[in-house]
Amino acid sequence: MAERVDVIVVGAGPAGSTAAYRLAERGAKVVMVDRARFPRDKPCGGGVTLRGASVLPFAIDPVVERVVSRMDVRLGYGGPVCHVDGEGPMVLMTQRRRLDLFLAEQAVAKGVDFRDGTRVRDITLRTEGVEVRTDTGTIAAEVMVGADGCNGVTRKALGVAEHSYAVAMEGNLPRGAAGFDDGRYEDAALLEFDVVPGGYGWIFPKGDHVNVGVGGYLEEGPRMRDHLRRICQVHGITIDDLTEIRGHRLPIRRSGTPVATHRAVLVGDAAGLVDPFSGDGMYEAFTSSRIAARTVGELLDGAAVDCSAYPGRLAGALGPHAASAWAAKLVMERAPWLMFGLLRTRPVSRIVGERLRAAPREHTSPGGLRISQAVSRVSRRGLGPSAA
Ligand SMILES: Cc1cc2nc3c(=O)[nH]c(=O)nc-3n(C[C@H](O)[C@H](O)[C@H](O)COP(=O)(O)OP(=O)(O)OC[C@H]3O[C@@H](n4cnc5c(N)ncnc54)[C@H](O)[C@@H]3O)c2cc1C
Repeated sequence: MAERVDVIVVGAGPAGSTAAYRLAERGAKVVMVDRARFPRDKPCGGGVTLRGASVLPFAIDPVVERVVSRMDVRLGYGGPVCHVDGEGPMVLMTQRRRLDLFLAEQAVAKGVDFRDGTRVRDITLRTEGVEVRTDTGTIAAEVMVGADGCNGVTRKALGVAEHSYAVAMEGNLPRGAAGFDDGRYEDAALLEFDVVPGGYGWIFPKGDHVNVGVGGYLEEGPRMRDHLRRICQVHGITIDDLTEIRGHRLPIRRSGTPVATHRAVLVGDAAGLVDPFSGDGMYEAFTSSRIAARTVGELLDGAAVDCSAYPGRLAGALGPHAASAWAAKLVMERAPWLMFGLLRTRPVSRIVGERLRAAPREHTSPGGLRISQAVSRVSRRGLGPSAA
């Protein structure tokens, strides 16, 4: 006989653990499963923007290794460097092995039953609930939160077609490695634009290492290692000195793709919520999990009969943010020098700094949402098939 719970959360990354935390806090009986044994790593730069941290229900200070308060931006591996700085910290640098364990621990402390090393094999969605078959047994739940990332099973269970994808690759360079001046990377991060089609390269400061990475359009996948080698070369790094080099896809939702059924919602990468300009996904993971927990909580309390409020709320919270990301990507891809020139002006630099620091206001007016959708659509079209 199937075990019965209120909510099953599939996946214990940033989206899953924070959704589970919030639902357990509301008094729900929550089981969270992850196929990996924790602590586990995940290909990621490990940068949590202040914007992302601001929507978390607790601080992540215990796992923050560096606080970035300046971004150095360049074009084409040369020329002048533009500094985006201003009013204090912008990004909290951590490692996913540490962050994700910490987030899962917070969920467990709220009463979540976390089962790592448990893979979901099959999902049956019904009008009145969900049945999830795992390696170790079947769990029946009132609702499922699908938080199993880019390549998970929940998106398929909802019948959602493949997202659009970008791709990124990163590795760690131990501090003190030969030929590399890591003294510059205490509280500053470097972004190299106009070097990879559809993306950029980065150097992020961490505790005992710096993280070096590149990302771009999916079709750059076969050339990602060459792009990584190039950014290393430019900075006097031997690629062979990088440890734990890993690549992964970044899912970007296509317009109108479903994110909910009666009794299931998708959050984070499972919903394809990665920022198309920066490739960040943790702010979106935390925001979608907050909205999912509210929607699922209302259903469990009897204030709603299904999860149909979720897509509209998600669009209100993330639609305008995604639209501005698409527009910025269009300008950066088509006229990088224009973008760079704008970034060097005080007002634009301040807007970018603010965007990294604070969550944008939610827009729920139908007119506002239509404008966001139109901006995203036109920008994607302008970028061509790689961004479709
Ligand atoms: C190279 C790279 C660099 C990045 N850098 C940044 C960055 O600096 N800042 C930022 O904000 N974002 C960054 N991102 C994006 C970010 O990593 C993701 O958006 C984020 O991890 C999404 O979180 P999530 O919880 O939705 O999914 P994930 O973190 O992918 O978690 C999904 C979980 O589901 C589990 N799972 C999968 N399938 C199953 C199954 N069948 N059964 C049970 N469990 C399952 C997995 O084991 C995993 O633990 C980067 C991405 C890449 C690829």
